[in-house]
Amino acid sequence: MARPTTALIDLAAMRHNLALARSRAGPSMLWAVVKADAYGHGLENAMRAFEAADGLALIEFDRAVWLRERGWHKPILMLEGPFGVADIDAAITHQLTLVVHDHLHLDWIASRPGSGRIELFLKFNSGMNRLGFDADGLRQAYTRAVSLAQVRRVTLMTHFANADLPGGADGALACFDAACEGLDAPRCTSNSAAVLSLPQTHREAVRPGIMLYGASPFADQSAASLGLRPAMSLRSELIAVQTLAAGDAVGYGSSFVAQAPMRIGVVACGYADGYPRSAPTGTPVLVDGTRARLVGRVSMDMLTVDLSQIPQAGIGSSVELWGDSVPIDEVAAGAGTIGYELMCALAPRVLREVKD
Ligand SMILES: *Cc1c(COP(=O)(O)O)cnc(C)c1O
Repeated sequence: MARPTTALIDLAAMRHNLALARSRAGPSMLWAVVKADAYGHGLENAMRAFEAADGLALIEFDRAVWLRERGWHKPILMLEGPFGVADIDAAITHQLTLVVHDHLHLDWIASRPGSGRIELFLKFNSGMNRLGFDADGLRQAYTRAVSLAQVRRVTLMTHFANADLPGGADGALACFDAACEGLDAPRCTSNSAAVLSLPQTHREAVRPGIMLYGASPFADQSAASLGLRPAMSLRSELIAVQTLAAGDAVGYGSSFVAQAPMRIGVVACGYADGYPRSAPTGTPVLVDGTRARLVGRVSMDMLTVDLSQIPQAGIGSSVELWGDSVPIDEVAAGAGTIGYELMCALAPRVLREVKD
């Protein structure tokens, strides 16, 4: 029998979240960000659920080609740019829009025969200091890009470092707008945080990611309060129950010790499934429809929960590690990380089930 550890992917929730992003983005073109296998939700699922998006944005060229082979005809944006000159040919062949964040990329493009034409997103560095041009570099890149026979259309883009903080994008936006002044090109800004909370940052196009999967980009606002629906439920079952006496410990390191006699449930899910080992005692876990708490250390294939308040629970009882009842952001916060990381870390051995 298959191990009961399953990630249920809810396409209706993804469609709902996309519609919410659309309503916030107004007339801006909407790129649905699907990098990292659609934040762990499966690229195929994303392709179906985000049919109404104007384009898909990702990092991985092999996956972009796969999208074309599977029949995605709308634009595809390569968010991290080309990694070598071969990617220019792939972009021409498969009509992939390329982020260009260095003059070297324009050298690569200029070196290819001008038979096909591609669209470019010139990236401005608005303070993240990872990728992108400064204001002068953006101007030079723009002038060169529009002169290349291989280039069909140029968009100017930036990525905010602090859109999730109050006022966090103000300076970056001002720098970006100033750098774009006088350049005749549409602009693309706004991750989920900016789509949701900073309408003044929206330009001709936006790029939401995490909100489409139903997690919050903000540390202090829940996904539910934003009107988002979780798209991934990580589920499993109890595979054993232990009765501890006062003073008995559970798990590696004996980090949890029972103060009084208690029942412990053993869940078939551990860090090799993508559940964070750093989740501490007290992290919420839903068992048989009731919120319980994780106790002791998460191990590779199992974790343990306190069944004191759930006397009816036994082998086979249903468990939700995150999903509709246990927000992924709550588990992430307990583990000292963010929902993004938990989604992306979902392990290949977890069975995927799709609800449409
Ligand atoms: C990942 C990414 C996004 C989406 O960010 P979210 O916070 O998930 O909405 C947007 N733009 C770029 C360049 C990205 O890399």
